[in-house]
Amino acid sequence: MAKTKITLEIATEIAARFNSAEKREDVYKDYPFNRSSIQHALKRHGLFKLKNKKHPNGLVGQIIQHKEELESGAISGLQLSKEIGCTPVYVTTVAKRNGIVLYYSKHRGKAKSVSDETCQMVLDHLKENGGTVNSSTRALGLGNQRIQQAVRSYARRIGFDTQEYRVAYQDYGLWKILPGVPEKCYVADYRVEAECTGCGTVHRVLLCNLRAGVSRGCLDCRRGSGNIPVICKETQATYKSIRDLSIDLDYPYQKLRLTLQNQGVFEHLGRTYIFN
Ligand SMILES: [Zn+2]
Repeated sequence: MAKTKITLEIATEIAARFNSAEKREDVYKDYPFNRSSIQHALKRHGLFKLKNKKHPNGLVGQIIQHKEELESGAISGLQLSKEIGCTPVYVTTVAKRNGIVLYYSKHRGKAKSVSDETCQMVLDHLKENGGTVNSSTRALGLGNQRIQQAVRSYARRIGFDTQEYRVAYQDYGLWKILPGVPEKCYVADYRVEAECTGCGTVHRVLLCNLRAGVSRGCLDCRRGSGNIPVICKETQATYKSIRDLSIDLDYPYQKLRLTLQNQGVFEHLGRTYIFN
């Protein structure tokens, strides 16, 4: 089919039908153009209107109804989002799509600055729960970029290192990661300080081992539960537990366990196995 331009005449006709009680679905079907071409043409001819009138109680409708307040700054996008029960981002997106210029984005920078109290509240949350500035602001329902930037500059100002809490308090088995800047090591791994909640001792452990579930507590505690990974010194092959090794070698489990626990090493067919 040759590319036909949607003329003003056709566009006007479509727009009129859109404004009538007809279903848009039916209108679209009557024309040999796809939806986006029709919409583009309507926009090009300045005839594009959103069909919010049909759903005055829908979110889009509600946002559009607040056009004046949003533009005058009587209500912020955040406040409106709370009122109608949607995310602040949705308000901003719908507003933008409908040509509503939010007061608070027009006056960005001139808008009331984020108070130190608010920033401190975010940092307190971060300190208590771990995570990032973004995750903390989101958790407190303050997740917008302006606040996040303000919190970051406030943190710098008071010398608060947000990096210390990035992985803090995450649990892996018995391990609980303690606050502290993860120390980069090897290619893509980090060493972190973690407390073994089984006995309360603190160790420096590799984050990837925790995440992979290889290390689930300190050696002493794991010894108690019998789930200690074992590694072959020669081949570097690892086994999740003494049980796994005993199955692999077809060697009696109890004998293997006692040797490893008493001597810290188990030798078999020219290979040595140690706790990993
Ligand atoms: Zn322990």
